Amino acid sequence: MNGKVWLVGAGPGDPELLTLKAVRALNQAEIVMIDDLVNPQVLEHCADARVIAVGKRGGCRSTPQTFIHRLMLRYSRQGKCVVRLKGGDPCIFGRGSEEADWLAQYGVEVELVNGITAGLAGATSCGIPLTLRGIARGVTLVTAHTEDDSSLNWAALAQGGTTLVVYMGVAKLAEVRDSLLAGGMRVDMPVALIENASLPQQRTCYSQLQAMQQAALEFELKSPAILLIGEVACRSAAQSIEPEWLRAAGQP
Ligand code: SAH
Repeated sequence: MNGKVWLVGAGPGDPELLTLKAVRALNQAEIVMIDDLVNPQVLEHCADARVIAVGKRGGCRSTPQTFIHRLMLRYSRQGKCVVRLKGGDPCIFGRGSEEADWLAQYGVEVELVNGITAGLAGATSCGIPLTLRGIARGVTLVTAHTEDDSSLNWAALAQGGTTLVVYMGVAKLAEVRDSLLAGGMRVDMPVALIENASLPQQRTCYSQLQAMQQAALEFELKSPAILLIGEVACRSAAQSIEPEWLRAAGQP
């Protein structure tokens, strides 16, 4: 009989940002396959499981995706309860749906569990509202890195009026800047570059679009980091942003 595979988001790093559902899956797990952006502290919830590191970074050779697929299939066919633990949310630049589809083809029961994605956690930990009435009417999550080097429609993003949350952008800062400037975005559009979001070693570099690459160099910005680009990126919820309706109501 097949076991089950849970594709679980471990959140951005802070172990307290794990969902209760993720903890329940970890409690039941016999095999845990862990990516390298996952904080190992979350493994306290699966002390008896066998943990297999299948990360793609950290100077080690990548674990090929097909190997990860086969490993999940092999253990689930042994009737084991497998948790595949991914950083952030499994379906935000995390291949969660690819893995789910592949396993489903083989009749394996799969359950996806949301995690808090790094972009949202980074913004919140800086007190930056990604949407703000009258200022940012939406938020767009994009990756600066594609395997086939295909390009996004940066001009549309530059003019879309939404806050941009750019993943995998540290090595692409100059390209992102040039594409957005060419698309008509203001040179002084606020930018927040957030490294190690939600972790004790989190650092944030505030800058503006034109200057952001130089600012990141001076700041020695390192991956993993999120780029937040938009009117809200210089704001903090702790700063007093007096909403129009509150002022109109004459409240303190
Ligand atoms: N599924 C993940 C994203 C994986 S892609 C999620 O939902 O968060 C990897 C990219 O995520 C990194 O290059 C970086 O841009 C971002 N990232 C992941 N963890 C991060 C963290 N703690 N702080 C800042 N960025 C992070």
